[in-house]
Amino acid sequence: MDKNILSKLASLGCNIFKEEVLSKHCSFKIGGPADYFIDIPNEEALSLFLKTVGNDSFYVLGGGTNVLFSDDGYRGIIISLTGKLKEIVVNGEEIFCGGGALLSNVLNTALKNNLIGLEFVSGIPGSVGGAVYGNAGLRDKWIDSVIKEVVVYTSSKKVWLKRKQIVFSYRESSLENSVILDVCFSLKKTAENDSLATVLESVQRRLKTQPLSFPNAGSIFKNTKGFSVGKLIEETGLKGVRVGGAQISEIHGNFIVNIGRASSKDVLSLISLMEEKIYKQFSIKLETEIKIIK
Ligand SMILES: Cc1cc2nc3c(=O)[nH]c(=O)nc-3n(C[C@H](O)[C@H](O)[C@H](O)COP(=O)(O)OP(=O)(O)OC[C@H]3O[C@@H](n4cnc5c(N)ncnc54)[C@H](O)[C@@H]3O)c2cc1C
Repeated sequence: MDKNILSKLASLGCNIFKEEVLSKHCSFKIGGPADYFIDIPNEEALSLFLKTVGNDSFYVLGGGTNVLFSDDGYRGIIISLTGKLKEIVVNGEEIFCGGGALLSNVLNTALKNNLIGLEFVSGIPGSVGGAVYGNAGLRDKWIDSVIKEVVVYTSSKKVWLKRKQIVFSYRESSLENSVILDVCFSLKKTAENDSLATVLESVQRRLKTQPLSFPNAGSIFKNTKGFSVGKLIEETGLKGVRVGGAQISEIHGNFIVNIGRASSKDVLSLISLMEEKIYKQFSIKLETEIKIIK
């Protein structure tokens, strides 16, 4: 990156790291260095970055809970939304928050303000930007159901999008080439609120059914044609299989866990093995849910 632009970004409050190791920034704890890693704390800096990035490749990272970085790292710039871009504001039955806000903080804010509708996201780690980009949720309830409006930068242009202007489907949105700046959630105020009980129940369920004591990136594959990939993997007998430091979880067949110094190659080998076995046994082609970043 041009030195003048870097110093302008620094003067706008950006933290700029060279050769930043990506394993520090994702829940899998895997990944080599990125050429640059830039924390972007406000809209002015984001706008300047997008106007000046030119042909350099860049990737917007949220909480890093749904990504697999390469052992070789990333040739380009990783940006992370911080500071003001993590703020959360309540206005009546709406919550307006930055794309960098933690989803769990938004849920806590909703609970404190007796606003219902977001309980189903409890236990989903990561940021609002990542959740909206990937339409996060449960099997039958996704985050698009509570979105009113999303503000994005597409190239360097700021655009306000109503919910109906965005196409959402299972773990996908039409926000592919955009940076999600702000999101407005529309919730319901209630006097009688049993949301906390619902949230605690969901956390208990996750503790029992997910391998939360090892680094992981959530479900590796999207569920498909009404089948639970976890159950299909279980039927293939692959649970517990290891390659290097990576293992198909013994608790949940659709999770790969980093049991110690796993490399991205280890994880990719297991992914290929799972794809091959499932295709051979059930003639089903799996599609990855995690984003594999080269
Ligand atoms: C233990 C565990 C349990 C999980 N359970 C669930 C679950 O129940 N349901 C579910 O849906 N997911 C689940 N996940 C996966 C993951 O938490 C979600 O997909 C989450 O929404 C990803 O958010 P993130 O901020 O970590 O995104 P990242 O992993 O950082 O990025 C994911 C994608 O979003 C894009 N992105 C991130 N921020 C922005 C932004 N501001 N603008 C534009 N694009 C952006 C990235 O470029 C990338 O393509 C789980 C993960 C783990 C580790």
